[in-house]
Amino acid sequence: MSSEPTGSAEPIRLRPRRACPICQAPSKQKYHPFCSARCADVDLHRWLGGAYAIPAEDPPDFEETTGPLETEGPQ
Ligand SMILES: [Zn+2]
Repeated sequence: MSSEPTGSAEPIRLRPRRACPICQAPSKQKYHPFCSARCADVDLHRWLGGAYAIPAEDPPDFEETTGPLETEGPQ
């Protein structure tokens, strides 16, 4: 009687659980990727609040190549 596999007794999960990004709790498919509507709402408010906003970076000083060059300097 050696039909039982040895080593892995746990069934293979096609969809591994992912932790809720808000509270790290196991997410539910209904509120994926969050664990509850509350966490989903929290995440939404974070976006609206600017917590996840991309930090504004000052654009590099582009040389005015498209416009007329200032050739006339102070004399
Ligand atoms: Zn959560």
